[in-house]
Amino acid sequence: MPGPGAYLVGDEERREVDEVMQSGYLSRYGREDDPRFKKKVVTLEREFARRMGARYGLAVNGGTGALMAALVGVGVGRGVEVLVPGYTFVASISSIIAVGGKPVLTEIDESLTMDPDDIEGKITENTKVVMPVHMLGNPSDMSRITEIARKHGLIVLEDCCQSLGASYRGRMTGSIGDIGAFSLNINKTITCGDGGMVITDNREYYERAFGFHDQGHKPLRMGVEIGKRSLIGINLRMNELTGAFALGQLKKLDSILSELKRKKKLFKDTISEGGIRNMRFRRINDPGECGTLLTVIFETHEVAEKVAKALGSKTVSGSGWHVYNNMEQLLSYEDQDGKRPFRKHMLPRTDDILDRAINLSVGVVDPGLGADFGINILSGDDEIRRKGEEFVRIVKPIVD
Ligand SMILES: *Cc1c(COP(=O)(O)O)cnc(C)c1O
Repeated sequence: MPGPGAYLVGDEERREVDEVMQSGYLSRYGREDDPRFKKKVVTLEREFARRMGARYGLAVNGGTGALMAALVGVGVGRGVEVLVPGYTFVASISSIIAVGGKPVLTEIDESLTMDPDDIEGKITENTKVVMPVHMLGNPSDMSRITEIARKHGLIVLEDCCQSLGASYRGRMTGSIGDIGAFSLNINKTITCGDGGMVITDNREYYERAFGFHDQGHKPLRMGVEIGKRSLIGINLRMNELTGAFALGQLKKLDSILSELKRKKKLFKDTISEGGIRNMRFRRINDPGECGTLLTVIFETHEVAEKVAKALGSKTVSGSGWHVYNNMEQLLSYEDQDGKRPFRKHMLPRTDDILDRAINLSVGVVDPGLGADFGINILSGDDEIRRKGEEFVRIVKPIVD
């Protein structure tokens, strides 16, 4: 039950991977002067950065790794506070803890992304980074978030793991703030099984992120260096097979996005024509969103529960994975001072919205997001209309 890219794996990926199989070079590092070495990872980094409109690209082993490298890249370490919304995949939060930082949770608004009104009250002298998460393909309110960040001297790290390909006011998500992190996991817009990307225009952030991803080395070294490593890193490298597969998928990004948008519009229009009262769609901050999911919001929790049940689905708050209330590992986490910083229902506005919201699948079919009802990237127009009409038939008597 994966993302759209996973439905469309074919010859493009096979050809790319075959080239690596024939070359004999499996690591991102190889002999520059050997024409058999295809440099798939380095090529992916360049092409991805160009497509996203950023100067530097770094390929890593996953979205979590991309977030960690980006966090270290911008200088997050022990005690540094990072603002992050309470509705996200746990990796946005766990990556901060893994590099020694302190996640501080903010509310979301009806776009299901970071509520800009909840940022300023949570800034302390230790706050250095704000991490908007473009949830379910919808860009966060970047104009207000970057304005607040600039005013307070904060760095903006975009978690684009669910928004690969989305744009906001003409710019690709990930290239709007100071640094962006992406996932190529099986549930995302495009995939290579597991993989991640970091993009930035800032040379220093890039070098530090690169160093963290490979034992402190400078970018694109060849062979062994001695005495040049200024930071302690780990190994988050991407290998050539993965890089090749991702290159094949990247070629499909534009067609995936246009299909998603067209299918989402048809699905949404069909539902709108049903004229269901007392139901809204979530706010979309820019028409350049990915269109991976369609979210409906009801007036009360009770109604949303009834609707979810009738659809064979769940409310977003009851759907598990992406809601802080349901992250038991987070709720039992003790920080460096022995305190438990995360409590159930500490974000009342977020709870209220997610209690009333239901996700319908368009391109990402993931019960972990509560999106059991809906369509997928291969659905034909008739099927989409039928699903939309079915939704109206089931939901209207409950709501009206
Ligand atoms: C998927 C995801 C991640 C982590 O990506 P992985 O590739 O699974 O490590 C981080 N943040 C968000 C919002 C995600 O959806």
